[in-house]
Amino acid sequence: MDVTKISEVKALLNTSKSIAIVCHRNPDGDAYGSSLALYHFFKKTHNVSVISPNDCPVFLKWLPSEKEIIVLENNEKKAKTILQEAEIVFTLDFNAFHRTGDKTQKILEDISPTFIMIDHHQQPDDYAKFIFSDTSKSSTCEMVYDFIEALGSTDKINKEIATCIYTGIMTDTGSFRFPSTTSRTHYITANLLEKGANNAKIYNNVMDNNSLSKMKLLSKALDNLVLLQDMKTAYITLSQRELNNFNFEKGDTEGFVNYALSIRNVVFAVIFIEDKMQGIIKMSFRSKGTFSVNEFARNHFNGGGHTNAAGGRSEISLQKTVQNFLEIIPQYKEQIHESYDKEI
Ligand code: 5GP
Ligand code: MN
Repeated sequence: MDVTKISEVKALLNTSKSIAIVCHRNPDGDAYGSSLALYHFFKKTHNVSVISPNDCPVFLKWLPSEKEIIVLENNEKKAKTILQEAEIVFTLDFNAFHRTGDKTQKILEDISPTFIMIDHHQQPDDYAKFIFSDTSKSSTCEMVYDFIEALGSTDKINKEIATCIYTGIMTDTGSFRFPSTTSRTHYITANLLEKGANNAKIYNNVMDNNSLSKMKLLSKALDNLVLLQDMKTAYITLSQRELNNFNFEKGDTEGFVNYALSIRNVVFAVIFIEDKMQGIIKMSFRSKGTFSVNEFARNHFNGGGHTNAAGGRSEISLQKTVQNFLEIIPQYKEQIHESYDKEI
């Protein structure tokens, strides 16, 4: 991390008392992990609060001090006051205010604290005085470790902080299997284990925490799976009616798209999920190799993310969205075919 920037941040932290930490809407393990890691890091020295635009899925509810997080959707007045009074606002795991959803976005646009961004998504906006943005990093949690290390404070990493950082690294790397996992990632996680993170328990709490109805919904998703062999592409659809039939709960579809990507020779996978409440189709895109789903999502589906994992949305029906997708992909045939070479 940039030494000059870090010494300026250090000086700022010495003269400021109140810190707010904000993550993106529909928080994942990296968003909550990084936010709570910083919360525990600053708890003894600052007046610190974590604001999440909306609530997290059940499989993150066990994180140390998760209950301390103020969910803006449920407590807008309190969240707004905290954000208005904060001298420093850390924005974690997102690159633009709109990733926090309408309500939080509006509040963030109207306040003027010192913003510090720590994030690993592409094309960061420039609202923050201090931008720590590195798309080569596996996760924001890995960057929070780098940040603490750059402050010269690794001795302050306790079991809680280690647990939170480990969780975000584990979830964003697909349990250390994505190419974003580097020797540095493993070096950091080794240190986190030394500091008390319990890898087996964390995995169990996050991954082996499925309800029966989620497993039945997965069976429906696999039933709906379509393989476009000559495009090396596979996709899944889930309608609102199907979600309702299986008592859908927030987070239940997390990871489903990876089953499509796990099919032999498939390098591009998509899941289309109907959300009648928001009146949108939410899409998750995943790829193997050089084919950029970030570009694909940006160009066609109002989204973005990383090269191999991105999200998007559409405001037309599920059927029309899929049809639209099927019309678009042939133009990417070459890029998709060239994307991934199996040779090691
Ligand atoms: P997911 O498919 O799990 O929702 O998202 C995959 C990745 O893409 C995540 O890193 C997420 O932050 C990013 N992402 C998801 N939806 C959007 C979106 O609408 N816009 C942008 N810029 N990024 C997104
Ligand atoms: Mn992340």
